Amino acid sequence: MAETIHLLPDHIANQIAAGEVIQRPASAVKELLENAVDAEATEIRLIINEAGKSLIQVIDNGKGMSEKDAQNAFARHATSKISVIEDLFEIRTMGFRGEALASIAAVAQVQLKTKRPEDEVGTEVSIENSKVISTTPVAAPVGTSISMKNLFFNVPARRNFLKSNSAELKHILEEFTRVALAFPEIHFNLNNNGQEVYHWDGGSFKQRAIQVLGNNYQSKLVTVGEHTDYLTISGFVGKPETAKKTRSDQYFFVNRRFIKSAYLHHAIANAFDGLIAKDSFPSYILYIDVDPSKVDINVHPTKQEIKFEDDKIIYAFVQAAVKHALAQFSIAPSLDFSLDANIQQLDAIQKPFSESQVQETSRKSLYEGFTQKNQAHLIPKSAQGGQQDWKDFFTELPGANQEFIVKPSSMGLYKEDASLSVPEDAFLMQLHQTYIIAPTKSGLIIIHQQLAHERILYEKYQKASAQPHATQKSLFPVVLELSASDAVLLEEMVEDLANIGYEIEAFGQNSFIIQGIPADVLAGNEKNAIELLLEQFKHFSADLKFSKREKLIRCMARQMAIKAGQNLGQKEMHSLIESLSECDIPNNTASGAPTFIEFNEDYLDRLFSK
Ligand code: ADP
Ligand code: MG
Repeated sequence: MAETIHLLPDHIANQIAAGEVIQRPASAVKELLENAVDAEATEIRLIINEAGKSLIQVIDNGKGMSEKDAQNAFARHATSKISVIEDLFEIRTMGFRGEALASIAAVAQVQLKTKRPEDEVGTEVSIENSKVISTTPVAAPVGTSISMKNLFFNVPARRNFLKSNSAELKHILEEFTRVALAFPEIHFNLNNNGQEVYHWDGGSFKQRAIQVLGNNYQSKLVTVGEHTDYLTISGFVGKPETAKKTRSDQYFFVNRRFIKSAYLHHAIANAFDGLIAKDSFPSYILYIDVDPSKVDINVHPTKQEIKFEDDKIIYAFVQAAVKHALAQFSIAPSLDFSLDANIQQLDAIQKPFSESQVQETSRKSLYEGFTQKNQAHLIPKSAQGGQQDWKDFFTELPGANQEFIVKPSSMGLYKEDASLSVPEDAFLMQLHQTYIIAPTKSGLIIIHQQLAHERILYEKYQKASAQPHATQKSLFPVVLELSASDAVLLEEMVEDLANIGYEIEAFGQNSFIIQGIPADVLAGNEKNAIELLLEQFKHFSADLKFSKREKLIRCMARQMAIKAGQNLGQKEMHSLIESLSECDIPNNTASGAPTFIEFNEDYLDRLFSK
C-alpha cells in the first residue's frame, strides 16, 4: 500500500503558516508599520493602491538593515529582537516572533530597499514565493522601504476571499490609526491611490488624538493621568457631549499596543454612568503602561486580547482614573471614593506583584471593601447579561424583540388573516403607551405600535427606490464628523440612503454634510439618526444572508419607527392602523415579530360560556 503521509512542499507550508499572520491587506499593513516602529523610525509613510490588494508599501527612516540581514529577514523565525528565552519576558518591541516578513514573502511579490546610517550603499532584495531572487547594491536613503505587490497572487482562494476595496480600506485605516495613536512622536503619512489621505506630524499624545479625532475635539477632551508604582494610565476621554451612538473612537493601548477589552471598556462605561445616555458610547483614547512581565500579550502575533495578572485591580484602577478625571473637570458631580486614598493603599499596587501577594491582598478588608456594591469597581450583574428592564431592552435592541412577545398563535388565538378593519369613528385606547386596543368588525385587536410602524416603514422604504422618496431640504445643513472607518461605511450607504430621502454629501476628510432628510423625519435629529443607523448597520453586518440594501432598509425601519412608550392621539392611532392595513404583509415585522393580534368574537364568546 502506498504511504498516506507526505511532507508538504516548503512553499505550501509557508503559505499555510502565512495565513495565520496575514489574513488581509490590513494585517500586512500592521506588521510593516510595527517593524518600522521597532526600527526606531521618526517618519513612516504608508502607500497603498486598491485597498492594499495591488500595493502596500511602507517607507521608514529607521535604522535599516545590513545586506546580510536584508536577505535573512524573510526567513521564518528570523528576528533580531530576541536571542535568549528570558528576553521573552521583557519584550518592549512590537514584534519578536520573526514571522511577519516570512509570511508576507510567501503570499506577495516583495521588494526591500534598505540602508543603515553607517553604510555607504544600500541593498535591494527581491523576493517571490519565499525565495530571494535578486540582491543588488543600490543608492538609498537611510531607512527601509518594503513594498508588497499583488497580495495573495499565488493563493487565489485567499485572494477571492478578500472583501470590497472600501471594506479592506476600512480595516487598513483602523490599523493605521491605532499605530499612529500609539506613537504620536512619529510622523505618519498615508497615501491611497496616489492621494495623500493623512499627514500627521509627530507631536504630543494630545496633538495626535486631535489629528485622529478631528479639530472639533480640541476643547472636548478630558485628560486622564494616574500614576502608581504598579501601573500608569494616561490619555483622554471625550466629554460627555461627545458620546456617540456608535462604538467608534474607543482606543485602549497597553504598553503602546492596541488591545480590545470588553472588560476594560466596561470599566470606562461605568465611570460615565449617569453622565451619558444609556445607549451611547463614550469616546476614549487611553494608555496603560505596566511592567511587561505583568501582562501576557504576546501569545499570538495577531492577538489583540490581553491577560493581566490581576485584571480586577486594573479594572478598578481604570474606572477610578476616569472618574477622577471627569470629577476634576467638574463633569461628574462627585467621586465614590478618592483614587489616591484607596487604590494607592492596596499592597498590590504599592509593592511588586506576585501570585501569593494577590491572594494575601484579596483577603484584606480594604480589598473586600473595594469589591462591595456601590464601589466603583464592582460590576453589577446586569452588565454581564442579567435581567435588564425589558422595556429598555425592547426599544434599544430591536431584533431581540420576538422573545418578549407572547405569541398567542400557539394558543390558537392568532389569526393569520386577522382583519384590520377598524371603524373610522371607533374610540381607540392606548395601553401602557405601547399597545393600541381597537374594536374591529369581528372582535378586537391589540396592536404593538412600534412593531406595526416598523412594518409600515419597511414596506415604504422597500418600494422607495422604484420611486424616490420625498426629501425636505435642511435649512441648516448638519455636518457629520465620523471616524475614518465609519466614514467608509457611510460612503457605501449614501446611494441607498438617497433613495429613501437622505441627501448626504462627502464634505472633506471623514466629514459629511446632511443636505436633506426624508420628508417624514423630524428635522433636528438627523445627526443622531445617522449615527444610530451606522451602529445598527454594523451589528447587522454579520448577517450575510441579507443584501446591503435589505439590511439598510431594516435598520432604517427600526430606527424610524415610533417607539414603545410614546403617547399617541386618536388621529395618530387611526392613521397607524390604516397604514398597517395597506401593507402587503401587515401581520409581522421583517424579522418576524407579530405586529398585532386579534381576539375574534367567537373566541371571546367561548371565554364567557359556562
Ligand atoms: P519580528 O518583527 O517579529 O522580529 P519580522 O518578520 O517582522 O519579525 O521582521 C524580521 C526582522 O527583520 C526584524 O527582527 C528586524 O530585524 C528586521 N526588520 C524588519 N523590518 C524592518 C525595518 N523596517 N527596519 C529595520 N529592520 C527591519
Ligand atoms: Mg515584525
